[in-house]
Amino acid sequence: MKMACKLLQNSRVVILEGFKSRSRKFSTSLNAQKNYKLVVVGGGSGGCAVASKFVKKLGAGNVAVIEPNQTHYYQPMFTLIGGGIKTLSDSARPMKSVLPAKCDWIQSKAVNFDPVGQKVTTASGEEVGYDYLVVAMGLQLNFNKIKGLPEAFDLDPQVVSNYWTKTVVNTYPAIQKFKGGNAIFTFPNTPIKCAGAPQKIMYLAEELFRKNKTRQDSEVIFNTALGVIFGVKKYAESLQKIVTARNIKVNYKRNLVEVRGAEREAVFENLDKPGEMEVFKYDLLHVTPPMSTPDELRTSAIVNEAGFVNVNKETLQHTDYPNIFSIGDCNSAPTSKTAAAVAAQSGVLERNLSAVMNGAKQSAQYDGYTSCPLITSRGKCILAEFDYDAQPLETFPVNQGKERSSMYHLKASVMPELYWKMLLKGNWNGPGVYRKLMRFGMGSSGKA
Ligand SMILES: Cc1cc2nc3c(=O)[nH]c(=O)nc-3n(C[C@H](O)[C@H](O)[C@H](O)COP(=O)(O)OP(=O)(O)OC[C@H]3O[C@@H](n4cnc5c(N)ncnc54)[C@H](O)[C@@H]3O)c2cc1C
Repeated sequence: MKMACKLLQNSRVVILEGFKSRSRKFSTSLNAQKNYKLVVVGGGSGGCAVASKFVKKLGAGNVAVIEPNQTHYYQPMFTLIGGGIKTLSDSARPMKSVLPAKCDWIQSKAVNFDPVGQKVTTASGEEVGYDYLVVAMGLQLNFNKIKGLPEAFDLDPQVVSNYWTKTVVNTYPAIQKFKGGNAIFTFPNTPIKCAGAPQKIMYLAEELFRKNKTRQDSEVIFNTALGVIFGVKKYAESLQKIVTARNIKVNYKRNLVEVRGAEREAVFENLDKPGEMEVFKYDLLHVTPPMSTPDELRTSAIVNEAGFVNVNKETLQHTDYPNIFSIGDCNSAPTSKTAAAVAAQSGVLERNLSAVMNGAKQSAQYDGYTSCPLITSRGKCILAEFDYDAQPLETFPVNQGKERSSMYHLKASVMPELYWKMLLKGNWNGPGVYRKLMRFGMGSSGKA
């Protein structure tokens, strides 16, 4: 059996030799306790994809991944877990099985970034030097920014969230226990990962309420801080028709600020009238929490004012430090944050970082490609795919704005395989090539 990624937990080994840097520009830090040609921070979707790609190029001993967690979750499956279609263990793999075998896994948190000294300090006090750094730290869930919410999670099993491993397992039981009343689904006032997920679970729940014969006694409410149901006009029009047909009440510009668990009351600020609060009674509350980049990153020297790693949105190279790149949810590329975006970014990052390592010109450009499989029921899905300009960039030569069972099958059965077997192994750069093949001679990519 292949040896899994070498684990260097709390190790203080000093590796100052062992590889020859091909770069003259970015030489390894002399002060660090360990040095690598490439350090990747984060072993999620983007970190695994990048580490896999570069360990093949640079060889064993030259790539390290700093990642604290023992378990890697396929987060896009969380919607299906909340809907009772998959289990949490279906979405989980040991971290050591998904990190590439030939990289060094430093099992700790990155707590300090020194982009001038070219080193990262970990929570266990190690200084890890690098020639090149890729930051792939994802987003932090800030449940504690909503007054009373952490307590409400403990108090009431009808308060749930698909976004967290600890609470996603409670969603389906809460839907099944719901006997009528108000079922409220929220969308916060910050950038989030998978902007479709807050409403996907609402559609699955609403369908189950009908099946369980509780729908006639209930109000299904989507309270969103946004001013639209979805950021791309074509898909927003489809979703608008669905919420109307299914009698779902959508309240725009409503931001959850407090949960009074004992009273089962949720307090929302009306963003059109700042300071004005509205109280909703609930019998089921699904919360999408406010999010930010992780604290250690947000307070570092490599982020913009909003706390995201400041990259050129086309090359994914840091705007101030040319030997730093960033992939995925934690970077400043202004697109919808998804694993699909990570896939497309990984190909661009691979080409551009390789060019920088070889002293060549960067040639790849990220167009903002992202995708959101908007599950609307058990068996139906609208596959939204779009770019930086919020223009559809569809892969298949059919109208993807329609609910389709083929797209549901793709989401539930094909995408997980693509994720584990291709993306994390560094072999999936998104569907760009297939889009061109499938649409050969057809011109359009689904633009309205
Ligand atoms: C409910 C839900 C539904 C979703 N649905 C979809 C979908 O249908 N389609 C889709 O494409 N995407 C979906 N996503 C989004 C997708 O999962 C993310 O966009 C994707 O995982 C982002 O990858 P990433 O590498 O940027 O971050 P992540 O995969 O979150 O990885 C970040 C990693 O960084 C690590 N890290 C954090 N802090 C530190 C630190 N200080 N030091 C070291 N490491 C650190 C974390 O432990 C983690 O392993 C969904 C997400 C959720 C939660």
